[in-house]
Amino acid sequence: MKRVEYPGAILELVAQLRRMPGIGPRSAERIALWMNQSRDARAMEIARAIQAAAEGIRPCVRCGFFSVGDVCEICADESRNGDLLCVVEQATDILPLERTGVYRGRYHALGGRIAPLDHVGPEQLRIKELLTRVDAENPREIILALGADVEGEATANYLADLLREKGVRVTRIAQGLPAGGGLESADELTLSRAMAGRREV
Ligand SMILES: [Zn+2]
Repeated sequence: MKRVEYPGAILELVAQLRRMPGIGPRSAERIALWMNQSRDARAMEIARAIQAAAEGIRPCVRCGFFSVGDVCEICADESRNGDLLCVVEQATDILPLERTGVYRGRYHALGGRIAPLDHVGPEQLRIKELLTRVDAENPREIILALGADVEGEATANYLADLLREKGVRVTRIAQGLPAGGGLESADELTLSRAMAGRREV
């Protein structure tokens, strides 16, 4: 006797859901069956939302942030401080910085960081575009807001060398103790960077 399975369309949905980050085979099956059986699921709304996001959103040609048109909301905002340009690894790093409310300059997402082991070199990142922007927009300060790991460090050093040649001031965001954290729980590297990055009070 032939082994019975769910119809092909459900199996295909399970297979597609399984490709998503953090979704294992059991969750994928549970979600697929919920979408198919539960009226609350409103599966067509989910389908339309996925389609709208996939077709309607693209990276901003200038900074790389999520955008509906060629240029994103941040780049189109004339009231922004054009003297400051903050370089981040990913477009997803921009909103966390925005939400702090302390920065009103512009951004540039590199699309990653230099990571030779993963075959990511400078030419795979939006570094040429960054240099072109620096020439065109003449920011007074470039803030490197990159990760505090080895690759982030290497990328920051590489960019700092390139940007200093252009005579622009280059800074890095501070590294140190997490808010609410005591010294006893910090690792040596964090503590040594906190010490190196001390400032006048
Ligand atoms: Zn933009």
